[in-house]
Amino acid sequence: METKIIDGRVLSDQLRKSIKQKVCELRQNNIIPGLTVILVGDDPASQIYVRNKKRACEQVGINSNVIRLDNNITEYELLGKIHDLNEDTSVHGILVQLPLPSHLSSEKIINTIDPSKDVDGFHPVNAGKLLAGQPYLAPCTPRGIIKLIESTGEDISGKHAVVIGRSNIVGKPVSIMLLQKNATVTICHSKTIELDKIARQGDILVVAMGRPQSITDKYIKTGAIVIDVGTSRVNGKLLGDVVFEDAKGKAGWITPVPGGVGPMTITMLLENTILAAQSSSVL
Ligand code: NAP
Repeated sequence: METKIIDGRVLSDQLRKSIKQKVCELRQNNIIPGLTVILVGDDPASQIYVRNKKRACEQVGINSNVIRLDNNITEYELLGKIHDLNEDTSVHGILVQLPLPSHLSSEKIINTIDPSKDVDGFHPVNAGKLLAGQPYLAPCTPRGIIKLIESTGEDISGKHAVVIGRSNIVGKPVSIMLLQKNATVTICHSKTIELDKIARQGDILVVAMGRPQSITDKYIKTGAIVIDVGTSRVNGKLLGDVVFEDAKGKAGWITPVPGGVGPMTITMLLENTILAAQSSSVL
């Protein structure tokens, strides 16, 4: 069968036009949306991600500031920086680029961010709101995945969605979002038995394992919507979890890597920053 490509770059470009419009409206009301990214250390991949986020902010008119901190910063000092940003009314969104050096507790750091500025949507308050069906600042990658699926024009309601991966960042929140869209959801993980049989039942298959090139055609139902979240750098090349050439001809729709989920994650970060800025004006 013909497999259609879900182009995350094209969808992102469309959404960023309307984000830019919203930024103009906020600026007309003297609200200049501001995002501050904290980058600890010199991890090369994190540097690229942060640069891309800053560039995307500039593109739509969001004020962005990157705070670069030494690898040896103490937890106490980092928590102090976050407290300062929580108090700063010109900062609407705070993002701490993960992973952090091992001497810093990501949990403690994330839990210190004011939930109304937690544009990554990782704070337990925001995770709880999502679970309770009152999403506010929901995690960016799962939000982007839902938009990618919806862009196919297929109705999520009533579909069997199989999610491979149960992380707090991708697998769990995207499963909740699919459930809220009335899909019947199966969540798989590393202890799942006969993963291929279960995956093959999915009208929608979301793969977020971080195991490059492990999902072949035997995991895919004919005509399924396949969302490949995986991004692993192998010998300098960015690889997804799905074997794209295998999936082509079997899936109905598929996201490429790169150019699928990645651009949408950043676009959802911009949307969350706008949401946080809009909310700050009514608080
Ligand atoms: P993670 O925290 O490492 O979680 C991976 C999940 O996959 C775990 O739940 C794990 O199961 C499951 N898993 C691992 N091996 C498996 C196997 N053989 N069979 C079934 N399940 C298996 O990773 P993550 O943060 O969710 O990220 C997943 C991937 O998405 C990574 O490649 C990451 O780089 C990528 N990602 C991309 C974006 C983007 O914007 N493009 C954003 C976020 C993440 P257990 O729980 O049992 O260990």
